[in-house]
Formats: sequence, C-alpha cells, structure tokens
Amino acid sequence: MHSIKNLISKKINGTSFTKSEIEFIVLGYTNGKITDDDMTCWLKAVFEYGMNDIETWNYTESMLNSGKTINFSKLDGFILDKHSTGGVGDKVSIILGPILAACGCYIPMLAGRGLEHTGGTIDKLETIPGYRTELSLDEFKGIVESVGISIMSQTNDICPADRKIYALRDLTNTVASFPLICGSIMSKKIAEGISGLVLDIKIGNGAFIKSIKEGKILSQILKEIGSLYNLKVKVCFTDMNQPLGKSSGLRSEILECVECLKNNGPIDLMNVVYHLGREALKLAGIKNPQQKMQSSIRDGSAFDKFKQMVMAHGGDFNSLENNNHNTSLFSKDIIAKKDGYLSAIDTTGAGNAIILLGGGRIRKLDNLDPNAGIDFYKKLGCKVKKGDVLATYFSSNKAKIEKNKFFIEQLFSIEERKPIEIPLIY
Ligand code: URA
Repeated sequence: MHSIKNLISKKINGTSFTKSEIEFIVLGYTNGKITDDDMTCWLKAVFEYGMNDIETWNYTESMLNSGKTINFSKLDGFILDKHSTGGVGDKVSIILGPILAACGCYIPMLAGRGLEHTGGTIDKLETIPGYRTELSLDEFKGIVESVGISIMSQTNDICPADRKIYALRDLTNTVASFPLICGSIMSKKIAEGISGLVLDIKIGNGAFIKSIKEGKILSQILKEIGSLYNLKVKVCFTDMNQPLGKSSGLRSEILECVECLKNNGPIDLMNVVYHLGREALKLAGIKNPQQKMQSSIRDGSAFDKFKQMVMAHGGDFNSLENNNHNTSLFSKDIIAKKDGYLSAIDTTGAGNAIILLGGGRIRKLDNLDPNAGIDFYKKLGCKVKKGDVLATYFSSNKAKIEKNKFFIEQLFSIEERKPIEIPLIY
C-alpha cells in the first residue's frame, strides 16, 4: 500500500516513482482521497526535484486514464489541434481554431483556465454571456462534427485529473515544471482523439520557459509522448517577451479575436496565427495553407465558424457584435516619462497586474472581473516621446486601478538606444 507522505520523501531522497505510485497519486487526488495540502507537497517535490522521462510518460498516461478518450474514427477529415504553453495576450487558439475549421479540419479543443500570470482560453470564452465550457462528451463531439470546432474545458468525464491538478498548480506556484506541463498538455490532447498537434512553446520573460535551450528540451519530451500515442506533433517556438497583439485581459481579448477574424488583427498576432496555422495545415496535408487561411478570413468563413461555435455552446453572439468595444468602468493611461525607445516590458508583471486588477485568481474561488485588463499601444523597439500613451489599464473596481498604479507604471522601460530586435518566431 502506497502512502503520499512516503512518496514525497522518496522524491526528495532522489528515488524515481514507479508507474503504480504515480497512478496512486493521480487517481487518489482526482477521487478526493488525497487532500489539497498533501497534493501541494507532492507537486512541490516534483517541481523541485523533477521526474525522468519514464516517470513523465507514466504521469501523462495516468492523467489520460483518469477519464475517457474521444474516438472520431467515423469522421472523414483531419482532426487537429493547437496548444500553447501559455503567455500574456496569447489568444491565438480562439482565432486559429475557427480558421482551421474553415479550411476543412476538425478541431476538438480542450483548453484551460488562467495559469499563474498567463490568461486562460476558458476564462476568456466564459466572458461571452451564456457560453458553456463544460459540455457532455456527446455534445462536444456533436459540435465538432457539425460545426468543425468546439472549445471546452476538462470535465469530470475527460481529463478530470488535469482539471483538478491544473487548478491546484495555478495557486501553488508549481506550473513551470516540465513533467507537469507535459502531463497536463499531452493528456488533454491525446484524450481529444486528434491525429495532429501543433504546439506553441512560448519563450521569454512572460513565459514559463525562458530560453530556446530549455524549450528544446521540453519539445523533445512532448514529441516523444506524442509518438507513443501515434500523434504527429509539430513544435514551434514563438516570442513572449512582450504581450501578444494589443489586448491582455478576458473580455478585451475576445473582442480582439473578433477583430482578427474580421481581418482587422494586429500584425504580430496574425503572424503567429498564420505561422502555427501553416504548420497545422501541413500536418493535415492541405496544400497552399497560407492562401487558404487568408481566404477564410477574407470571405468570412472563419468568422462564421467562430459564430457557429459560440452559438452551439449557448453563447450570446449578438453581445459581441453590438458591444465591440471595451466597456470597463474605470481606466487609466500609462504615459511615457521621457523620449527614447521602448526597450523592455515586464511581461510576467503585466500578467500579474491583470490579476491584481481582478482578471485572474489569487484564491481558488475568486470571481473574475471580465473587464480587467491592459491595452498595449507600443511594441518593443518603438520610438516614444515623453507624454505618449504607452498603454491603458482598466477594471470594474476603481480602488484596484488606484492601488496598482505604481506597480503597473513600472512595467515599461524606455532607453535612449534602440534595443536589439527580438524575433517573433524563433
Ligand atoms: N497549458 C496546459 O494545458 N498545461 C500546462 O501545464 C501549461 C500550459
């Protein structure tokens, strides 16, 4: 008989877990037999001492086996998904999913809530009034088959272990661990029953992975797990040294996605969307991917897929059409204090600022303010003049705007010299 306390000591003493020990932890926590406190200690031990490849494979398999796996074998078409390791302003999934569906692929996307300073696709989608993020597997599958795309959360039926562990990691500073990231991402993606996966490993000061070197190590394990399940995995590395696109926040990001699907997206964001999309469509064997994606935006078919998905999930699409501007009650501008070039943005700090403004969780049951966020008007390397507005931050709570002013203003650095350009796609 295993005991959680012994297993925590085992990791601290440098011994690897067996398959049955990992299963005991994952299923024990999922079924409520292991407490949040004990699981936190186990996660911290793994965060600190790591897990080897075999432990990581076993962890992923236990996470996967905690729930059901979808089978799309009767569908005539390529079943595909995209997932990111997380960033600030990273709303690519909500734009690219409908584009890929409009290009003829099927996208059964299981996504997560915010993790630490990074925003979560599910929290963003829930700002659309009525949008249901927890469907039965039959309903999820039915929407994928009829619309071509459905985005929902882990449920009690599919990846329940990730649903619980993910939420606990968010609150216990145990996100940036390669084995935990691998198990979380790959269990969801394998459970979806897809044939191809594009992974966007975000690199930089707003990401969990700080360098390409680390990203390559992570990518190797992710690909190995994919190959064990016959899943074609293409890994891309993109920059997260500044927020992606213009808006960071829950509802403001959804409104930005709508603009992107209407062909009004910012260049950096659309470049990442198209880069990942080309790789995804190549996996699907679709010719002329760039041309097809651009046509799907121009002819409105990608936008239609998004609309159909929102409506199929019970979301009030008209609320997006009629209210396409940020309606936050309180806001404040961040003004450049001198002439020069925007040389750095503390991107993790920006994500944390959004949490402090109400857009993320500090405690498990915190309600989110859909209107909290920051709009960024200048990219790194931009010339700025004293008095220019660099960004605007907003919230439904005036006190939060005032209280966090000093912290938010410190996120931007201006230097006399133009900084070295950082590539968007590595
Ligand atoms: N995305 C996930 O689904 N899980 C992680 O652990 C990190 C990013």
